[in-house]
Amino acid sequence: MTQFLFPAPAPVTLPVEGGGLYPVARIFCVGRNYADHAREMGHEPDREAPFYFTKSALHLAPSGQTLPYPPGTADFHHEMELAVAIGAPAFRIPANQAMATVFGYACALDMTRRDLQAAAKDKRRPWDTGKDFEGSAILAPLTPAARFGPPGTQAITLSVNGQTRQQAHLADMIWPVADIIAHLSTLYHLGPGDLILTGTPAGVGAVLPGDRIEGHIDGLAPVTLTIA
Ligand code: MN
Repeated sequence: MTQFLFPAPAPVTLPVEGGGLYPVARIFCVGRNYADHAREMGHEPDREAPFYFTKSALHLAPSGQTLPYPPGTADFHHEMELAVAIGAPAFRIPANQAMATVFGYACALDMTRRDLQAAAKDKRRPWDTGKDFEGSAILAPLTPAARFGPPGTQAITLSVNGQTRQQAHLADMIWPVADIIAHLSTLYHLGPGDLILTGTPAGVGAVLPGDRIEGHIDGLAPVTLTIA
């Protein structure tokens, strides 16, 4: 039998409230899905098709950790998001059937090196170094969809050192979860293991060493991160 020449990466998993582990395969992220955040980033919100970027599952870190301030940035930002975990195959699935493919939901942080992202935007280069780096996807434990109910009136909030910075409702999304799954499933064969971070409300901002970030969505386990 062929041996691994180097240690193979350990499987990336998320604990599920009520038991079990959800194996993470891919992490898709939706850009500008709340109108007030699109405006604060200098864009007029519209119903143009959603767009995506991705993060490596190896860059996922569980909620509750203390992580170092990342290298290469002087403008490290928080983005509070609802994560959707897919639990069934979905390819070209209509929006009115898409919610049946959701396994569960979690609070997530899309941590961003905003200065690198802004420089990439200016030069029409990819966002990878701004968005996809060690510890850039912070995930709380998953809550099964049946326990959470349909996303809508739940509040989504984020505080830094106890001060509220982001505050909205899931119904404020430009593209609701069903529409995102329907659209993303025209581009990928989605399936169990795929996470979708559904975008952030207004109020993104910088964090500094020593800061403690806490994100809440009604009905889900909170996500926390401390910057070393
Ligand atoms: Mn985001």
